[in-house]
Amino acid sequence: MLPLMEEFYTIQGEGYHSGKAAYFIRIGGCDVGCHWCDVKESWNAELHPATESDIIVENVKKYADTVVITGGEPLMWNMHYITKKLQEANIKIHIETSGAYPLTGHWDWICLSPKKTKLPLDKIYTKAHELKIIIYNKNDFKFAEAQAEKVADHCELYLQPEWSNREKMTPQIVDYVMQNPKWKISLQTHKYLNIP
Ligand code: SF4
Repeated sequence: MLPLMEEFYTIQGEGYHSGKAAYFIRIGGCDVGCHWCDVKESWNAELHPATESDIIVENVKKYADTVVITGGEPLMWNMHYITKKLQEANIKIHIETSGAYPLTGHWDWICLSPKKTKLPLDKIYTKAHELKIIIYNKNDFKFAEAQAEKVADHCELYLQPEWSNREKMTPQIVDYVMQNPKWKISLQTHKYLNIP
């Protein structure tokens, strides 16, 4: 059983898989406490109905060959069972996580998005396929570099403007990426497209 906040079929808007159709599963519960969080209604897991993982998997199978498990912070819950069932159904399984809780489950793609308020646990860094740092202000560039030192060489590096501050920070990110081309810019294209 997982506290399911919402599930929907849409286009992945951010990061390496931007533009790809995927079924999103948003799991309730998060205590990371980002002040700019745009899904604060996810924080209290008790507000979201406990839902059988088998039912969620059946819904995914109707729509997509790729699933993105997000939150909230999905790793507050053990992901072993649901990812095993998704894997058996030949679904590609992606996660978006702050990394603040132990990594459970089987993943085809791990997008690690560390937050200063509750840093990732050490073990997840080298397992991440993608490091995505949200840039809210200038100090976040330093944070991004410190986090990038911990991931594996093959890990894709992304800087993404925090949505409410995008007009101020996007030009700075563009400059930064041109000066530091190991990074790429990630935009929340789903918000520009006005889709979930
Ligand atoms: S980790 Fe994600 S869900 Fe949790 S507070 Fe931060 S942005 Fe919101």
